[in-house]
Amino acid sequence: MAKFFIDPGHGGHDSGASGKFSKEKDNVLKVGMRLKSLLETYGHTVKMSRSTDVFVSLSGRAKMANDWGADYFISLHNNSATTNASGFETFIQDSAVSVATSKLQATIHNAIASKIGVRDRGMKRKNLAVLRESNMPSVLIEYAFVSYPEDENILINKVEQLAQWTAQGIIAFAGGGKPATTPPVPEPSLPQLGDKSLYKPTSSAILNSTATVLKRLEQKTDLPLDPQWREKLLKGELTISDAIGLLYVAIDRGHIVGKTE
Ligand SMILES: [Zn+2]
Repeated sequence: MAKFFIDPGHGGHDSGASGKFSKEKDNVLKVGMRLKSLLETYGHTVKMSRSTDVFVSLSGRAKMANDWGADYFISLHNNSATTNASGFETFIQDSAVSVATSKLQATIHNAIASKIGVRDRGMKRKNLAVLRESNMPSVLIEYAFVSYPEDENILINKVEQLAQWTAQGIIAFAGGGKPATTPPVPEPSLPQLGDKSLYKPTSSAILNSTATVLKRLEQKTDLPLDPQWREKLLKGELTISDAIGLLYVAIDRGHIVGKTE
């Protein structure tokens, strides 16, 4: 598993770009926090440049990642323009970059571009401080233009999807264990007649079975159990001898008539 440094751009007094309804620093922090937990469910380790609305310098971000020994650096941004520009693009450093860097960019880029529903502006290269100063393969994502209404709508309302698509790209590149899920509870197999070793029920199993039988009997007849026993039954306070006694009572009352369901 790998160490991912997730860098939501801007923060604090640096809002980044602003749209009509949102600020870049807030939009990317939401995606970043969600991306962190997604990657962690796949077994990766994640460190954030910021997890609150605070300012961190560009060099400070790269230094944090370098000091931590991150394997990969992912920077999250919203684009902005005074024109009607719209769309999605990713950046890697413009100088010589490793094959891993190009591959990381391509995998993340394609995972997002195929889903985000805005124009694909392409995989680009640019001399950017966080990319230049970080020692590991680094990709900067410009999800969409916060300055363009339809793009901003995605940045505000598709936080979960943006994080999911980004995580899918990262997992496609770096792999990851299957998210931890609760293992299915195996169906108890019915004991086979003749196999005496299987007939070793615990006292709680006996009580639970008896309680189930009594509840079903009561539902099938108009003869309720004695209130005091009924209360004990519902509270789970029956002892084994109580339970056996109740079964005798049920038989006496004719609750048990040998019919199957
Ligand atoms: Zn930015």
